[in-house]
Formats: sequence, C-alpha cells, structure tokens
Amino acid sequence: MAANVLPVTPPQRILLGPGPSDVPPRILSALASPTIGHLDPQYLRIMDEARAMIREVFSTSNEMTMATSGTGSAGMEMCVVNLIEPGDEMIVCVNGVFGSRMRDVAQRCGATVHSIEADWGRIVEPSAVAAALADHPNTKVLGIVHAETSTGAHQPLVEISQLVHDAGALFLVDAVTSMGGVELLVDAWRIDAVYSGTQKCLSCPPGLSPVSFSPAALERMDGRKTKVQSWYLDVSMLRAYWSEERVYHHTAPINMTYALHEALRIVLEEGLEARIVRHTVNHEALRAGLEAMGLSYIPERSLTTLNAVHVPDGVDEMAVRKRLLNEFGIEIGAGLGPFKGKAWRIGLMGHSSTKRNVLLVLAALESLLLDQGADLKPGEALRAASGVY
Ligand SMILES: *Cc1c(COP(=O)(O)O)cnc(C)c1O
Repeated sequence: MAANVLPVTPPQRILLGPGPSDVPPRILSALASPTIGHLDPQYLRIMDEARAMIREVFSTSNEMTMATSGTGSAGMEMCVVNLIEPGDEMIVCVNGVFGSRMRDVAQRCGATVHSIEADWGRIVEPSAVAAALADHPNTKVLGIVHAETSTGAHQPLVEISQLVHDAGALFLVDAVTSMGGVELLVDAWRIDAVYSGTQKCLSCPPGLSPVSFSPAALERMDGRKTKVQSWYLDVSMLRAYWSEERVYHHTAPINMTYALHEALRIVLEEGLEARIVRHTVNHEALRAGLEAMGLSYIPERSLTTLNAVHVPDGVDEMAVRKRLLNEFGIEIGAGLGPFKGKAWRIGLMGHSSTKRNVLLVLAALESLLLDQGADLKPGEALRAASGVY
C-alpha cells in the first residue's frame, strides 16, 4: 500500500456547468447502500421500479425502456448501433458538439451519413429536414439533439417528427440535457429511440443512460440481417435481461441503479410539470440578471437548463471561471468549438436550479467582472433577477 496516497476528499462545489449537476444527499445515501446481487429479487424489484419511473419521466409506455450501463454517450451509441446496419442511410442534424458526435458514431457503424448543418447556436429548421429527406428517400433513421448543451439551443421536435415519419424513417432524439428539465413527450412526439444521462437534469452521478425504443424501432432491430457490432450494447440480448427471463448479460451497475431509482423518485415527487416550471423561472431570473450585466445569449431559442452567453470584449474568460471555482466554489462551463474562449455555459439543471444558486452566481460574476474593469452598475443584476421572482 502506497503510504503517500491520500484518501478521496473532494471539495464541496456548486455545480453550474454543463453537467454533472449537484447531487442531493438522498441520492448519495442511496448510492452508498449495500451492494447485492444483480439477480437478487430485491434488486430486481428496484430495477423494475426504476424502469417504470424512467417511462414516466420520458412520458412513454414503451416496453423496451431501460438504463444502459455507461454515460449519455453510451446511450447514443446504443441507439445508433442497434438501428443502423452497414450501408444504411442516416441523416444527422449537426448544430453543435453532440450532433457532431452522433454523426461520428453513425459513420463508425458503417452508415452512409448525410448531415444537415446549422450554425452553432441556431436550431435546425423543419424546411431543411424536409429538403434532406426529399434528397435522400432511402433514409432509415434521422437523428437530432433536443437540448444542444454545447450552445444552449432548444430544438423543437414536433414538426420534424411528422416529416420523418411521413418519409418512413425512424426518429432518434438525444434528450441528455432535456429529460427531467424541459418538456419531453416521447410518445406524443412519436420519438422512436431516445437516450439521456443521469448527471444532467436528473442530478444523479454520471454512470447510467436511460433509453427507450418504440415498437417500430424494435421491429427494425428484429429485421436486421447483420449482428449488432457492439456485443455490450446489443439490445437483442439486453432485452432478455430486462424481461421476466432475466438472462445474464453483464453485471448491472447495482449501486448506480439505486441512485437512479432515488433520483427518479425525487423527480416524480416534485412532479414533472412543477419541475419544468421551476427550471423556467430560475432560467428567466438568471437571464434577466445576466442581460442586466450586459451579457448576451448565444442561442436564439435558449434552453432553460443551460445558459450560453458571450463573454464581453476585454474580459479574460478563463480567469473569471477559475476565480469562480477557487474563490466561490462555483463551477461553470467554457465555450466549445467556435465559442472556445468566447462563451460561458451556465447550467441550471435539476437540483442545481435554485433561486439561491441564481442569485449567488450573479453576485459572484458581478464582483469578478467589476474586478476586470467591466462597465456595469453594481446591484443591477440582482435587482433584475429579483424582479423575476
Ligand atoms: C452530456 C451530453 C452527452 C454525453 O453525455 P456523457 O454523459 O458525457 O457521455 C450527449 N448529448 C448531450 C446533449 C449532452 O449534453
């Protein structure tokens, strides 16, 4: 045993970045419960209840709903790898990091990928989707990101879903930063495959990815001529474990399932509608405060769960972020891609979306911006945010 290895003692932070978000003590306690066997009847009950609650939070009655082992990206990979066979045509909407990642995953699966590109910060317009579907009538799947965490853009889905189904394709949605934070109606919006992650608006540690597949998506998988390239993420085998048969595939992340179970209980205790309203009010207050300080939003249609703003000219982006972390214990995110060094991304996800955090981050940012010589009136941001409450 190395005598100089210190115990794990992470500091207390306030997580206002693009994920993870703050984890409530109830969830941490659940995580620390005794590990039992993954075929123990007591575990199977917890797993079944977690699955029923995932359905509720996704607003779906899809039988094939489960928590994939791995983070949100594992859910992305599971959806694509099971729905795509080499040579299939897939359209991917790309307006930020996560659309680009989905395209990369699809290409690695051997799909012929057609991208619909939109500027970062903008949404993908239904007209662009209609044109791409007309150009590529053999498209099997169209993938899109509901909440593009890299830019803060909130993508409307209903009209696009209609176009995709009219073209006979399956509709795949990344709901990593929307599930449990903004409205997401998997059945009503006719989403065929959807994945999320635990550490964004569910406020659970990272490690599981809730996914759900419509009957049409399962039919597509049943009709495959080739085996799914990924053994680990093959839904045809995982279905047998997540069914009455409980056929061993891989050992479930037992304690993460406890944590997710508790996180979903908290979501449903609050109620989906109340939760969406809470995220909206806190976002509006933060927005009023940031704009009162002269910070402007990047996306035209902003998420309530992620606030991406331009860094004012003359302000040292990284210095402010470092001081927020070191002096206030607050984590916010940096810009990505074209916004590297030019943006801040402030997450108000799940347990982190509170009035306390909104007023705290505004006050801290104001003091740091004043130190950098920014031209702003002290107190204006808090006055504007308080006005919303
Ligand atoms: C965070 C995120 C992912 C990836 O999730 P990981 O948990 O980091 O693997 C995918 N899509 C979106 C929109 C995200 O915000």
